[in-house]
Amino acid sequence: MGTGQLTIDLDALADNWRALNAASADRVETAAVVKADGYGLGVGRVAKALARAGARRFFVAVAEEGAAVREALGPGVEVNVFGGHMRGDRDMIADLDLVPMINSIDQLLRHVEALPGHRFGIQLDSGMNRLGMEPAEWAAVREIVLEQRPTLIMSHLACADEPDHAMNRLQLSSFIDMTEGLDVPRSLSATGGILLGPEFHFDLTRPGIGLYGGRPFEQARPVVRLDLPVIQVRDLDPSETVGYGNTWTSRGPVRIATVSGGYADGIHRIMGPKTAFFAGDVPCPVRGRISMDLITVDVTHLDEDPEELSLLCHRQGVDHLADNAGTIGYEILTSLGNRFARRYAGG
Ligand SMILES: *Cc1c(COP(=O)(O)O)cnc(C)c1O
Repeated sequence: MGTGQLTIDLDALADNWRALNAASADRVETAAVVKADGYGLGVGRVAKALARAGARRFFVAVAEEGAAVREALGPGVEVNVFGGHMRGDRDMIADLDLVPMINSIDQLLRHVEALPGHRFGIQLDSGMNRLGMEPAEWAAVREIVLEQRPTLIMSHLACADEPDHAMNRLQLSSFIDMTEGLDVPRSLSATGGILLGPEFHFDLTRPGIGLYGGRPFEQARPVVRLDLPVIQVRDLDPSETVGYGNTWTSRGPVRIATVSGGYADGIHRIMGPKTAFFAGDVPCPVRGRISMDLITVDVTHLDEDPEELSLLCHRQGVDHLADNAGTIGYEILTSLGNRFARRYAGG
């Protein structure tokens, strides 16, 4: 096989959901965020595995993404849309029975005019200034909104991956100010907020990255593995160069393996200098630049030429690669290309 193989461990995914569910009280519902194709891992299989683990409510970014979740799971689970009710969404929201998280008065009017009586949630801005009604806007319309019986009131934390950041408490008190005493279920926390403790849990949590094995859920089981096949292996004399731009020169005799995969598959060029592949437990450093479809790797120290080399494995997870690339695990996962063969294990 010429393409890399991405292995997705659905049992680990389900365990991560159970662990994050167990981190809050029994009365707190734990949903699952499956936007961006299940953080790049394939929303159909991911949603099914999470539903089997016990998730009954799913969040996507836009209505279009809700279709795949509904198709995978059928009726009986709730599919919520962070982007709310956008122009043109009416039929999708109605036909797929989606629940938009309304962001503004404009969206509210659009929703109640287009689909009177259809379920919706409300998104409030507690300080992130990204989505949701501002406190003053909310104060002006909340009585009218409450008459329409929203199913959820939610907000989102900007700095939950930094437990000591003052922003967490500021947003918590802003959210409480806007919602205290209302007879509507509330949600403030994603993965990071769950780990901040019970005050942040309210009635429903919305974990995403922790399910997929990423920081800040350090106890997560790793979910993805990536193996790339070796296409060719060659010996270099001292002072030969490798790859575009001659950026690496051999000092002694070396053996270089060329693997199938590159920046077109989301293996960002910038991670090259700091990144190794693994032959079992043995690190094999990248040499020269990462190209679009190929990467050159030093295998001089191996006893045998490898047939494949691993980029994501028990020795190196998504956050390690993210650090090498100066980014976050979320971006590594959602960049993994669709050229890889996907194999789902467990579930
Ligand atoms: C993406 C997102 C989540 C999930 O966040 P993680 O950090 O991946 O757990 C939850 N809520 C909102 C509003 C989001 O945009």
